[in-house]
Amino acid sequence: MFDLFKVGFITVTFVDIVDIGIVAFIVYKLYTLLKGTIAAQIFVGLMIVLVLSFVSQAINLRALSWLLKLVTDIWVIAFLILFQPEIRRLLVIVAKNPLLNLFVKQESPEAASIITDAAFELSQHQHGALIIIIRLTGIRGYAETGEIINAKLTKPLLTSIFFPRSPLHDGAVIIKNNTIEAARCTLPLSTLTTEGDEVLGMRHRAGLGISEQADVISVIVSEETGAISVAEDGKLTRGLSKEDLRQRLVKAFKPQPVKGWRNIIEQYLKQS
Ligand code: ATP
Ligand code: MG
Repeated sequence: MFDLFKVGFITVTFVDIVDIGIVAFIVYKLYTLLKGTIAAQIFVGLMIVLVLSFVSQAINLRALSWLLKLVTDIWVIAFLILFQPEIRRLLVIVAKNPLLNLFVKQESPEAASIITDAAFELSQHQHGALIIIIRLTGIRGYAETGEIINAKLTKPLLTSIFFPRSPLHDGAVIIKNNTIEAARCTLPLSTLTTEGDEVLGMRHRAGLGISEQADVISVIVSEETGAISVAEDGKLTRGLSKEDLRQRLVKAFKPQPVKGWRNIIEQYLKQS
């Protein structure tokens, strides 16, 4: 059917051309999407293995195709392991879709004011603080590294937790649904150690680190300078004014529009 021409013993049909065209298009698109990231190199390696295993099957190199089949059989698992942090982040971005957020209780605008006021009071006293506000995905594992509190979010409670002689001042406070879930929590450190030309201390790296792994916004008050920073989606913004901070929080507490797969993938690649 639709025979076009013959190369040696192979008959090439119209369907074959379309088939190869589609595969080539998908491979090309994937490559251009991943170009410039570490994933691209792994992708090229994977393609070489696939081509080799195809060739070895075609010319009947039994032992080699057995070996390559072993590799291709486990590559899905290898892919999951190699890209575990990226896949995790992609899922977080997907989860931010406003459709999903309809079912989630959001932080109230008052929470933004309470947190802003508390952060500025802490900054004036140069009391260090690390406040993590969970937007969608729970990070219960991290809350459990600290002291579970489950108390209504208020400014006096937040500022007294970070009072330097308070037993709970060390580590991070985790807030969800207008509730202080836990204090003194230990968070994963970001692998970034500098931002611009400034060295990042542990508090800033912890605030940044959790924002790389979960859908949270971190508010960091520096003990050294009193400066207030925010980390979101793995990006750190330093030296915010009071109004900046309030705006950022109000915005962060609203569902963010992420439209379509293209945006999701672009947003994801921007971050990696
Ligand atoms: P600052 O500007 O306030 O000094 P910094 O970024 O320079 O902040 P450090 O001086 O290293 O950070 O701050 C240490 C404090 O950071 C610790 O006392 C602790 O409260 C907090 N911290 C350190 N590591 C973690 C972590 N893994 N998770 C949560 N909090 C942490
Ligand atoms: Mg420091």
